[in-house]
Amino acid sequence: MFTPLSSPTLRSNRPGSRRTHLARVVAWATATVVTVAGGAAAAAVATQSAGPGGPDAPAAGAGASTTPQRVDCAVAKCVALTFDDGPGPYTGRLLSDLKAANAKATFFVLGKQAQGNPGMIRRLHEAGMVVGSHGWDHKAFSKLTAAQQRAQLDRTARAIQDAGAPRPTLFRPPYGAANSATKKLGVPLILWNVDTLDWKSRNSAKATTAALKQSRRGSIILMHDIHPTSVAAVPGLIRLLRARGYTLVTVPELLGPTKPGGRYFGRH
Ligand SMILES: [Zn+2]
Repeated sequence: MFTPLSSPTLRSNRPGSRRTHLARVVAWATATVVTVAGGAAAAAVATQSAGPGGPDAPAAGAGASTTPQRVDCAVAKCVALTFDDGPGPYTGRLLSDLKAANAKATFFVLGKQAQGNPGMIRRLHEAGMVVGSHGWDHKAFSKLTAAQQRAQLDRTARAIQDAGAPRPTLFRPPYGAANSATKKLGVPLILWNVDTLDWKSRNSAKATTAALKQSRRGSIILMHDIHPTSVAAVPGLIRLLRARGYTLVTVPELLGPTKPGGRYFGRH
């Protein structure tokens, strides 16, 4: 369904030192929950547990404001909902449902889709969702050269930034396929340990059952917002996860600082 990458000529400088990279990840991770920047903010997030104004607090008003949430996933029973392959025709509905539920999620978007729908990327970011990279056009990175992989990431980052969201610091390789070159791209590889197989069943109830059955403390749940059945499952899934004591967080909130080239299936 995707046309080949025409010319992987977009290049940019490699990310900075590991220290700089981590600082950027931390800064981004805290951007949705606190308004101050720097190490103090990271420390605050790391030490504060979910209070009475936690995930079930009423949603803030419409618009760009987000309800401050400070969750320590070493204490709270956190899970991260993640949505791949968008943004698509149903992403707007999903965003509305997430906002109504006062829930945060992480979106691993395709650069090509981001370029075609920059307004949605901006809306996701402004609503406090985390926008990560899923590459440009869903190529298996394990079959690409190092230069091609770099071009996929750079081109996608450019599209996300052009849309008004921060340069992504998280990468989910399509199909979870990576090789040694992928690990040298300077970004953490965010995988999953709960596979809803929503793309296969195209059935809301089955996706929900799979998510509930496999989820445990620290899980990363894989779904796809390009399928209406997946999007339709989300409000109910959020209610059921919360009923089981889970707090829904973004991937940066779940994992805290990550290492470039590290592979993450969940917390611990
Ligand atoms: Zn995908």
